[in-house]
Amino acid sequence: MNRITARTVEEGTGGPFAALVLDSDTGDVVSAGVNLVLSANVAPAHAEVVALSLAQTRVGDWNPGTDPARPRALVVNAQPCVMCLGTLIWSGVKALDFSVPGFEAERITGFDEGPVPADWREQLESAALPSTRGCSRKSARRFWKTSEAAWQQARLRSTTADDLDLGGGGGPP
Ligand SMILES: [Zn+2]
Repeated sequence: MNRITARTVEEGTGGPFAALVLDSDTGDVVSAGVNLVLSANVAPAHAEVVALSLAQTRVGDWNPGTDPARPRALVVNAQPCVMCLGTLIWSGVKALDFSVPGFEAERITGFDEGPVPADWREQLESAALPSTRGCSRKSARRFWKTSEAAWQQARLRSTTADDLDLGGGGGPP
């Protein structure tokens, strides 16, 4: 996941977010998603939404959790925002595993993760998502440290390009 996210930042196609939908028992990857908001100009194209949508398409069912013998999990390199938590509830995927808390992702990226309620874990549990794990994996922590520098450089490049385009564009803000 770190390699996918690093490539997204390096190529300037999106924010430093990646998500996988895995078969919980085997660990097989059902789908992978990256943040496509900037490259596609689609605000809801967060990595989680992309991964969950692709999983539904691949499984051929809007509810990939229909078969209880094949539980699936969403694995993300940062805590999902309020929109992605809502998408997860309706996705059929029954477990969530993420690396860093939302406030840390907000600090690094400058993105607003939205009004995530303080009791979001309890709300997910009441929506039949019994497993919500936030962990602090060393590899994820290392990645976010390096990603922070790369993301700040990418933002600087983007800002500089925008500044140079002032007066010559005519495109959307
Ligand atoms: Zn999101």
